[in-house]
Amino acid sequence: MVRRVKKVQIGFDVDGVLYPWHERVYDYMTRNYGFRGTLGQLFVDLNNPRRYDPGFIKQIVEKKEFYRGEPYKLVVSFLEELAKDYELHYITARPLQTSVATKAWFKEHKFPYLENVVVVEDSKSKEILERRIAYYIEDRVKHALELKDLTNIILVRKPWNEKIQDQFPCMNSILELGNYLK
Ligand SMILES: [Mg+2]
Repeated sequence: MVRRVKKVQIGFDVDGVLYPWHERVYDYMTRNYGFRGTLGQLFVDLNNPRRYDPGFIKQIVEKKEFYRGEPYKLVVSFLEELAKDYELHYITARPLQTSVATKAWFKEHKFPYLENVVVVEDSKSKEILERRIAYYIEDRVKHALELKDLTNIILVRKPWNEKIQDQFPCMNSILELGNYLK
C-alpha cells in the first residue's frame, strides 16, 4: 500500500514578504508628492490620519499599477525548492478587486502551488485555520498579532514592525526561512 504523507502547510503574506509593494509606493510618493523621508517613515505617516487622508490611502492601496512589478529577487526559485517538501499557500489582504490581477501575477511569475492563492478582504484567521497553516510568514503588525495563537508566525523584519520584533522569530527575507522550520 502506498501511503501518502501530507506535507506541512506554509503560508505567505504577499506584500512586504514576496513582493516589494511598499517600495513601489515609496517610489511613487517620492516622485509625485516630493516625499523625502525613509521607507519606514512613509508607512508610519500613511498610517497617521493627520498626515494623510484615509481617502488618499484607499486610492494608493487600490492602485492596480502597484501590484504589477517583479517579486523580490530569488523568491520564486527559493519557493520552488521549498515546494518539494512543503505545501505553500499565499494569503493576502489586498482589496478584493485585485483578486484577478493577483492570481495572474502569481501565474505570470510561475510560483508553485498556484491553486493556493487567496485574496481576503481583511482577516486571515479563517484561511489559516481551514488550510491548517503550520507556519505563516508576515510583515504586518496587525496580522501577526491576530494570527499568533493560530499558527507559528515568522516575521520579516521591516521598519513598520519594529515594535513586535521581540515577540516573534524574525528574518530579513524569506530566503532565510530554512533556519526557522523545525
Ligand atoms: Mg505584508
